[in-house]
Amino acid sequence: MKYLPLDEQDEELIEAAADAIKQNYVADRHHVGAAVRMRSGRVYVGVHLESRVHDICAEPVALGTAVTHGEREIDTIVAVTLAGEGGSRVLSPCGTCRELISVYGPEARVLFMEDGEVKKCSAKDLLPGPFVNSSES
Ligand SMILES: [Zn+2]
Repeated sequence: MKYLPLDEQDEELIEAAADAIKQNYVADRHHVGAAVRMRSGRVYVGVHLESRVHDICAEPVALGTAVTHGEREIDTIVAVTLAGEGGSRVLSPCGTCRELISVYGPEARVLFMEDGEVKKCSAKDLLPGPFVNSSES
């Protein structure tokens, strides 16, 4: 996997995701926040949703908000959960989100956690050999 260097904008994105969940945390309901920077430079946030049947991750909520505002191209995306006293921790996207991110932004950059460190790589590196609909190939 090719890792990319983190920059100040990545730190700002992590902070935006952390702020989203800090402001909207509800036990057993909302405990993950996500932030996505689109190619326009605008940042959209979302929190995950829980139900008795199926949970919806924070990344699709943030991405759906961006798309609803007319945005189409992801620059960078991150999900964060709360950890400790007022702290937060970056999460790695689940398999479903890796698929979603790679569809909406094959060139998108993803911040994720590996070996206790925040890393950055392109979406396609997080999902090698992605599913391709037989009608697309
Ligand atoms: Zn997910």
